[in-house]
Amino acid sequence: MTTPPDALVAAPHDALYIAGEWRPAATGDTIPVVDPATEEVIAHVPAGTAADVDAAVRAARAALPGWAATPPEDRAARIAAIRDGLTARADEIAATVTAELGAPPKIAAAVHAALPARVAASYADLAATYPFVEKVGNSTVYAEPVGVVGAITPWNYPLHQIVAKAAPALAAGCAIVLKPAEDTPLTAQLFAEVVHDAGLPPGVFNLVTGLGPVAGQALAEHDGVDLVSFTGSTAVGRRIGAVAGAAVKRVALELGGKSASVILPGADLARAVNVGVANVMSNSGQTCSAWTRMLVHTDQYDEAVALAATAAAKYGERIGPVVSAAQRDRVRGYIERGVAEGARLVAGGPDAPRERGYYVRPTVFADVTPDMTIAQEEIFGPVLSILRYEDESDAEAIANGTEYGLAGAVWAGSDEEAAAFARRLHTGQVDINGGAFNPLAPFGGYKRSGVGRELGTHGLTEYLQTKSLQF
Ligand code: NAD
Repeated sequence: MTTPPDALVAAPHDALYIAGEWRPAATGDTIPVVDPATEEVIAHVPAGTAADVDAAVRAARAALPGWAATPPEDRAARIAAIRDGLTARADEIAATVTAELGAPPKIAAAVHAALPARVAASYADLAATYPFVEKVGNSTVYAEPVGVVGAITPWNYPLHQIVAKAAPALAAGCAIVLKPAEDTPLTAQLFAEVVHDAGLPPGVFNLVTGLGPVAGQALAEHDGVDLVSFTGSTAVGRRIGAVAGAAVKRVALELGGKSASVILPGADLARAVNVGVANVMSNSGQTCSAWTRMLVHTDQYDEAVALAATAAAKYGERIGPVVSAAQRDRVRGYIERGVAEGARLVAGGPDAPRERGYYVRPTVFADVTPDMTIAQEEIFGPVLSILRYEDESDAEAIANGTEYGLAGAVWAGSDEEAAAFARRLHTGQVDINGGAFNPLAPFGGYKRSGVGRELGTHGLTEYLQTKSLQF
């Protein structure tokens, strides 16, 4: 791993961003930020508490009426300024994500820095063009902002997860309090600087860094929050859903996944396997929509396993560390469990590939059966499970046989055949024969993978509520 020059990594703020300014937190407690490639502490940020969350929510409530009444084209102009700020500071964003997440510089630039600018651009367009007023017979229907949004985000795509909430919320006319993941707060602070420079009115966007069970929970529970938008684990999402339900407030949950890549017999096997392995190893396996289960017909199984083992071996030196020591231990624990339950290791394994840094070896398991832990639970590391199926209905049952339903892939001899099979999958997104990521397509889960959708028009409507006037 190349460590980025310090000059490019965003300088930490020892303050919270509330009501348009950097303010000291209520207590002097801090959270250390660790570079997962070196295990060194690179910064400290404030550990916000319930008092800080309360101040931020009050600032958001005060700013809400003015922002909600701002014409959509003016809101669009401010989001366009955020897009420009993200584009101008792309190198700094990439370096900061490399420093606190461990993403290799290439993926940090191509994905972590570039994708959020594209998403911000899409909402600058949507804010300017979305029909916020519609005629329905004798009614006029207004799409109005939901109000104050409490956004709680994870560390795996630190800036993308923030922008996928903040940009549509701003487009809708909502005010926001963000509580980012404790592992990646520097990227969130950099985003607050970009928002500030974009000239948003004070209080429309607020940032409280802090621990999940303290600041995150206080935000989810706050009476002044109208919608909680959460991305993270299913365990925490369930709690947040319960809190929001009890308070009758809106909630959006983007949770885990255990997505299947189904390779039907007519597919280009080598391409399907190579793209599938790349999909899992990318971001060191820390992608909620990763195709962590590969389903292969019994006649092609051995060939696919050999291809996957070769492909995974190439990632040995290229892959970054996982985000933290806890995550590394969790992933290694799953690899050990796979071995103990009888799966066959064909690449990687639980042992440490380097002396320093939270690295995990790119790992591929063959002879995985649907009931095994590694075929059911989200590992969130560079671990692929290859399962065998006998016929299409068997493949469908295995693909649909987990509690999750976030994403997936189908590979076949034709797009039509793959699409027909994809319609049978209980999941929110399916890539057909390697179809490209579309930042305007709705992203979100069936079953325990979540509630609601992000990105594009569907992501915008999450932050709107409707009022109809009859004439
Ligand atoms: P996590 O649930 O532990 O944390 C996510 C966020 O919630 C963090 O900001 C954390 O501080 C906060 N949090 C933790 N406890 C909380 C509480 N009691 N109340 C309020 N907030 C709390 O998850 P993580 O380890 O940061 O992220 C990994 C998980 O996120 C994986 O399971 C992954 O699949 C999921 N994820 C899903 C998506 C998606 O779009 N569906 C995207 C990324 C990650």
